[in-house]
Amino acid sequence: MVRTHRSFCRFCHAICGIEVDVEGNRAVAVRGDPAHPISKGYLCVKGRAPVSGIPRQSAIPVRVRALTPAELAAIAGEDGLSATRAPR
Ligand code: SF4
Repeated sequence: MVRTHRSFCRFCHAICGIEVDVEGNRAVAVRGDPAHPISKGYLCVKGRAPVSGIPRQSAIPVRVRALTPAELAAIAGEDGLSATRAPR
């Protein structure tokens, strides 16, 4: 079941109103909120990017890490996450 939530874009100071369709715990669509008093449904490409431009985690078939600067190797799931995690 898809639920729609009203919110606002946090990418810049314009704070455009958005409607976000959520299925389960995942955002599946975002669009400008026509009822927002200032942005009136406008949403720039940055505002649409969180849903349209970033692949779902499950859609990423494989992660890679560099063995040497010229060499890449496929690594699976959790190994890929830990190998590419930023050092603390
Ligand atoms: S949709 Fe674009 S203009 Fe509006 S707040 Fe987001 S980044 Fe700024």
